[in-house]
Parts: sequence; C-alpha cells; structure tokens
Amino acid sequence: MMGLAIDPGIVLDALSVMAWTALPDGRVDFVNRKWSEYTGRVLGTSSDWQWRDVTSADDLPKLLERQTAILASAEPGEIPVRLRRFDGQYRRFVLQISPLRDAEGRIVRWCGICNDVEDLQRAEEALKRRELDLQLIVESIPVPVTVMSPTGEVEAQNRLTSEYFGKSFEELKAWRSGGFIHPEDLEAVIVAQEASLASGAAHNVETRYRRADGSYRWFNVRGFPLRGRDGGILRWFFLSIDIEDSKRAEITLAASERHLNETINALPALIWSARLNGTGEFYNQHYLDYLGRTLSQVRDYGWMDSVHPDDRAGLMSVWSAVMASQLPGAAEARMLRYDGQYRWFLFRTSPLRDQHGKVVKWYGVNIDIDDRKRAEEELRRSEAFLAEGQALARMGNFSWHVDTGEIAWSDQLYHIFEFEPGTTVTLDRIVARYHPEDVGLAFQLIEQVQRGDSDVESQYRLLMPDQSVKHVHLLGHRATDRPGRREYIGTALDISQRRRSEEALAKARSELLNVARITSLGALTASIAHEVNQPLSGIVTNASTCLRMLAAVPANIEGAQETARRTIRDGNRAADVIARLRALFSKRSVTLEAVDLGHTAREVVALMQSDLDRDRVSVRAEFADGLPLVGCDRVQVQQVIMNLLRNAADAMSSVDDRPRRMSIKTEAESDGMVRLTVQDAGIGFDPQHTERLFDAFYTTKNDGMGIGLAISRSIIESHNGRLWAALPKEGPGASFAFCLPIYGG
Ligand code: ADP
Repeated sequence: MMGLAIDPGIVLDALSVMAWTALPDGRVDFVNRKWSEYTGRVLGTSSDWQWRDVTSADDLPKLLERQTAILASAEPGEIPVRLRRFDGQYRRFVLQISPLRDAEGRIVRWCGICNDVEDLQRAEEALKRRELDLQLIVESIPVPVTVMSPTGEVEAQNRLTSEYFGKSFEELKAWRSGGFIHPEDLEAVIVAQEASLASGAAHNVETRYRRADGSYRWFNVRGFPLRGRDGGILRWFFLSIDIEDSKRAEITLAASERHLNETINALPALIWSARLNGTGEFYNQHYLDYLGRTLSQVRDYGWMDSVHPDDRAGLMSVWSAVMASQLPGAAEARMLRYDGQYRWFLFRTSPLRDQHGKVVKWYGVNIDIDDRKRAEEELRRSEAFLAEGQALARMGNFSWHVDTGEIAWSDQLYHIFEFEPGTTVTLDRIVARYHPEDVGLAFQLIEQVQRGDSDVESQYRLLMPDQSVKHVHLLGHRATDRPGRREYIGTALDISQRRRSEEALAKARSELLNVARITSLGALTASIAHEVNQPLSGIVTNASTCLRMLAAVPANIEGAQETARRTIRDGNRAADVIARLRALFSKRSVTLEAVDLGHTAREVVALMQSDLDRDRVSVRAEFADGLPLVGCDRVQVQQVIMNLLRNAADAMSSVDDRPRRMSIKTEAESDGMVRLTVQDAGIGFDPQHTERLFDAFYTTKNDGMGIGLAISRSIIESHNGRLWAALPKEGPGASFAFCLPIYGG
C-alpha cells in the first residue's frame, strides 16, 4: 500500500459504489465514503463495528457463513445480503469479495464492493409476478385463449382450449394442419391472422372449430396484441368466443326473415311501409305486380300516379291527418291495375313505435275491396228495387223472432199500417190496428206461430185512424236456417185495391149480363124467325113424311118412328131458341148519356185484363185525345166493346207462331161520329162471308152461340151508328169497328 502513489483510501472514496477492505481474518479495516453515506456509520468511531450492525438479523448467519467459506477458499466470492441504510431501510446488495495478495501470493487484504441489486431484483420480481398473473388471467378466462409470440408461434393456451379440442398443447401448436378448423374457414383464418401479425391491428373472424367429439361449432375469434411501454408488440392473444347458439339463431332468424319476406310477398294484398315523413319505402311483390311498375317508379310518392285522379286529394288528406294523429287510419280509393282497370282498395295503415312509444315508421296494407264495393252497389240497387217494388206492390216484409218478440219491418209495412217509420213495432200495436171484427184472426195467427207451424197465412182487415178499411193478406214462413230459434219471415200485402176492383168487376159483370138481355127484340126478329123457322119447317116436313109412311101398305113403322123422333128434336130446338131469347131479353132499360168512348173502352179493357192475361193476349190502346163525347147507353156500348175484344181474343187462341197482339183505338170520323176499332192478329175470316158474321146464330166456334155480333150490331144501329168487319190490307187478323154519333150532334 505504501508503494502506491495515490492513497488507495482516496481512490476508494471516489468510487460511486460502496467499497471496503478487510484484514485476512475478515475484520473490516476500511470503508469508503459511499459506504459511510449509505450506512450512516464511519469506521473508527466505533471500533467494535461489525457486519451485524448493518445487516438484518435474518441475513447475518448466512453472511458469516459465506464469509468464512470465502476466507477459507482464499478465492473471490459473492454474498447476497440486505444492508440497512442510514434511515433504517434495507436494500439488497451483492457483496463481491476478492483477495489482495502480496508478491508471494499471500493474502494481505480482502477487498469488497457492495453492488446494489435492489432495483434489479424488484424488476425481476415484478416481471415474474406479471407472468404469473398473466397465466392466471389466461386460465381464468372462460373461453379458449391462445397466446402467441409476435411472430406467431403458439406460446400458451388455456385449459379450455385443450379441453375443447381434446388435444394437448403440443398437438395444438400445429393448428394450421391439425384439422381443428373447418376446412372451409381455414384459409380465411390464416389470412386474417397473418394480416394482423403484419399490421399489428386486431382482427375478428368467425370460424368453425372441430370439437373433441368431432362436431363443429361456430366461434368468433378475436386476436389482439399486448403492447409494451414502448408500444412494441409483446404477445398476441386470441380469444375464441362460442357463438354457435347465436349463429344458429341468426341462421334461424335469417330463415324466418326469408320466410317472412316470402310470406309478405306472397300475401294477396298490397303491403307497404313508409318513412316517418310519409314517403314510401317498401312495397311487396304483389304491390308491384298489381301496378305493373318497378320499385323505383313507386317509391316515395310515385305510387300516387296509380291512384284514380278523383281519389287522390281525398286519400292524401286522410294520409296527412293520419300522420298528424299518429294513430291507425284507413281510406278507400281506386288503384290502376297493370291492365288499365281501376279497382277499389281499402288502404289501412298503423304506426310502428319504438320502446318509448315514438313513431318510427308506418306500415300499410291495401286490400282489394272491388268485389265488395260492387256487391254493395248491387245490394244498394237491389234494395232500392225491392223498396220500389214493395211500394208498387203495396207489399211489406217482416221478420218476427217469436221468443224475444223482436219484430223487424220494411218501410212499406210501416206505410201500410200507417205507423211512424222506425218506431218499435210490438204485437200489441199490430193487434190494435186490426178491424175489431177481425181481431179473432190475429189471435188465431199468434196461436199458429206459438205452435211452430211452418207456414201461416191470414187475410184480415185493418181499421185505420181515419176509419178507412184496408185489406191485408199475410204470408209467413218459419225460417229453418237457425235451429232452436223460432223466427218467421213473411210478407204482408195490401190487397185493398184488389178487393175494390174485384168488387167493381163483379158488379160490372152482373150489369153486363143484364145487358145481354136488354137488347132490342125487334132488331132480332128476322134472325129469330129464321132460326125458329128452320126447326118449324123441319117439323112440318117430318110430320108429313111420318103420315105418309104410316099410310103406306104395309105401313113403314120404323121410318115413321124415326121421322117422329126428328120432329121431336126439331121441336126441342125451337123451344131452346125461344127459351134462350126469353132469358136474354127479360130485362130491358136504355138510358142515353154523354160518354167518353176512350174512357169507357179503357174500363172494359181493365175489366177483362185477367181474362186477356190468361189467354196471353196483349192489348195496345191508342185513344185519341180531346175526342167529342158520344151519346149512348154506356153499359150497352161496353157490352159491344167487350164482345169485340172477346172475339178478337178467341180469334187468336190458336195462334202460337206470333205474338197474340191486339189494338184498340178511338178516332174522330168525318161525319160527326167517333169511331172505335178493334184489330187482332187472329185467324181472320173468309171475305165472302163478311156479312154472315152478323147473322144471329152464325158461329164457327164449338161453344159459340153466334148472337154476339148480331146483338152488337142491333145495339149500335139503335144508336144510329154503324158496325162493320174488315180484313187488314196485309198481315193476318181481322178488324171490327163501329161509330157512334157525337152527343147532342
Ligand atoms: P160467337 O162468338 O158466339 O161465334 P158472334 O156473333 O160474336 O158469335 O160471332 C160470329 C162469328 O163471327 C164467329 O163465330 C166468328 O166465326 C166470326 N168472328 C167474329 N169475330 C171475329 C174475329 N175477330 N175474327 C175472325 N172471325 C170472327
């Protein structure tokens, strides 16, 4: 030491590490300044300084032991130890001790430095701890995790990974070729991973992993880097999240969405959706097909072009009101079909709301109601027809629910009963309207209904508040379509007018019958004489013949008997003629009055209408306006008209190849007369026999009497008129006409 140019103590003091020297036996004889600064102790102030003063009690035995060993070995050595700082804190050091030898190689000193390893060790511990934590974390993640180096080698995997695949860590390292990833997905996974490794960006792929049992499940693999403080990538983590269930749900959802779409498109209605502002967004296939237009053509408000121009404004105002109200709504409008035909649609829409109730969209469906509309129109029309028909026929309908007493009436029935329309109809009210003499019939009817008869019929009178009488004919039928429910449906017909005309008809008939008997006998005398003369001359001839036969020798008894029989027959015939004529003319009264011929003829046609209908004969009346009145016995002239009409109908009874049509017309004659003509399309007559038609007892009919025209002519002529027959210039049939002088003329 003395030979050194510089004091080694100064050198050691200048060192920035703690240094010391010790005697060969290990006793410290020098500490440098750094050492003193750290420990807060100076050598010499306490001559009994020992290592125990600066080491922890825990470390001391090991220190002493190591020191002894190093001293004994006479070789350099190290001793880890914790040294106490001046402030009582311990830091870890490694004491590096080397022997200092003299020229002979004897140890003269031991030199030592204290290497502060506290920071280093702490860092190592922290690293260890981190790795431990990392492992724990990776293990505790409940999904398969793989850790890779920045270059992509598999470094670690958690237990779940090997459990899922059923493979060891070593086997899984070769994941690219091990068949763990579905062959269809493998390439995409590799590409994604390599891209991430190259760019350092995280990735996210979906792939199917093969489970230990051989089945595949879908996983979402997320790779992300773990970066150090300097931003460099330390590791890659790959988390595999099992998404099989959601994938399956997704597939199912996609399928059901597809199905829904197909359904929506297949629905035979026009379905659409619109944005919040009302512009159209979606239209199903049927919609587009119906309009024969494309999506881009109908989108937004393009569809409006297909709405009937008359319906656009109305539809638009409903749509605006619905949007403003945010409530469901509906409107009707016509839409143009691809083939150019408009059909009625019911537009229905409702809002779609989010969870806060806010409207986010509109959904709509347009339903084809054209057939319904038409049916409604048809129904309206037929209801109107029915009502009109009922009014014309004076017929009302009713339905009567016997058990509840509910009675529904048509308007016409209210009219017949003269009840205020719409008021409630009760049995009591109805019965109160019955004619007092017919109330018994009401109770009869009620009894039948209570009994459940399937058909009921009744004719009764009503006594109206003004004391007038109405005749009603009721028909009811028990409805069978609702078993267990006694309901009668029926009609009530006001037959008052029919009754009145029946009565009038009966009266007119009896009058006419009389007329047949009151025609002038004188006018017929010639005809009667002719008719009676025939059998009389027969009788005379036969009687002479009879006598002659009896006088012959021998007498012709048989011949005489035959001629006597003929005599009797002719006698009877003459008696018949007389008897008939007597009956005919027994009553007689003629009154001359001013008669409107057209009006009179119309009455006769009305009287005979049912007969004419029965014979399928139609009558065309042409009565000239403003004709003068004629002076005649109205009833007698009616008899003539009736006779002409009857003959015309008879003449057409065998006609089936043309309409049985006749005309009756009145017109003015030039010579102060009025003419009435009846023309038919019947069989006509032989022109050679025209005048014979007017002979009494001339008939061509099986059941004819042959006096109709004869009487008619005598009536007309007794009025100073004329009656004649003619054949039409062309076509079938005959015409019979008469003219009568103007009244007072
Ligand atoms: P009846 O009708 O009983 O035969 P009429 O004196 O009324 O008696 O008629 C006499 C005949 O005149 C009829 O049988 C018929 O041959 C003929 N005659 C009458 N009217 C017509 C007519 N419209 N068309 C054709 N022949 C008719």
